[in-house]
Amino acid sequence: EWADRGAAMIVKDVPDKQTGKITKQVIKKGINDFKFGETLGDGSYSTVLLATSIESNKKYAVKILNKEYLIKQKKVKYVNIEKNTLQRLKNTKGIISLYFTFQDESSLYFLLEYAPNGDLLSLMRKHGSVNEKCTQYYAAQIIDALGFMHDKGVIHRDLKPENILLDVDMKVKLTDFGTARLLDSTSEDDLKYDLLTRSNSFVGTAEYVSPELLNDNYVDFRCDIWAFGCILFQMIAGKPPFKANNEYLTFQKVMKVQFAFTAGFPMTVRDLVKNILIKNPERRLLINQIKAHQFFADVNFGNGSVWDKDPPELG
Ligand code: ATP
Repeated sequence: EWADRGAAMIVKDVPDKQTGKITKQVIKKGINDFKFGETLGDGSYSTVLLATSIESNKKYAVKILNKEYLIKQKKVKYVNIEKNTLQRLKNTKGIISLYFTFQDESSLYFLLEYAPNGDLLSLMRKHGSVNEKCTQYYAAQIIDALGFMHDKGVIHRDLKPENILLDVDMKVKLTDFGTARLLDSTSEDDLKYDLLTRSNSFVGTAEYVSPELLNDNYVDFRCDIWAFGCILFQMIAGKPPFKANNEYLTFQKVMKVQFAFTAGFPMTVRDLVKNILIKNPERRLLINQIKAHQFFADVNFGNGSVWDKDPPELG
């Protein structure tokens, strides 16, 4: 499944110099077609470098995973989930693009779209919190992207501010699909089936994990909506709603839905958060209901304008 020996095939339309007639030409792309630059970051199993295409000078982020280490750590499954999910989400607004994957003897490579403006966590840290207008701007894109993703049968399961990257125009790009769940189709029955399938291991990050995972050990697409509620709270409050000194105590708070709004937390956002952070997933707002909430009253989700606007001033 992985293009071999550092090569991925792409087909390009090449016009004949004299006649202008277009012919299709198969071009092999591999690691030799890129200049590697600075380290952008390290994950638990990967290193991400800046890569520049020698041909076009275009910048990419290349995620490099050591095969031997992946096998030893039994993480091969997660790498394949990430690849399959990103391939399913190709050309989806608000999701990081995966252009090619290739391999050599020692490593696997993901050639990803480069997001030069960091992630939402760094943005929040830099400013302490995000003003209401900015919260609306980023939250609208996150919820829209979640909708596209769910429509394609993908549950993220580890949505958090670090996994929300910002592209060159400060537009949201969701990333880190190693723990995603792919559904075969998005029919009601499938979702019900997924609901009944018990997952065996803890998936996610303590602060953003949904109570149904902790209580009943199941998750469906509504766990991403829960995480969205936590992120929405965090943008305004400057800290996640459920936070304690350790994972165990955080879980206790999540299970009891024990959180408090900070002083000055705007009323409309408060109402929206209250209707998302609901223990029973059946009673939690759905994506379309969130979009229809008063907080997004002046946002037009229908025509894609959520993605065309410039970001408001932070601070
Ligand atoms: P873990 O695997 O431990 O959950 P992670 O998901 O952050 O960590 P990676 O996806 O390998 O691991 O990313 C490592 C770091 O590289 C990120 O924290 C981010 O700073 C940077 N990075 C990842 N992808 C991109 C990208 N497309 N554009 C710019 N920087 C990126």
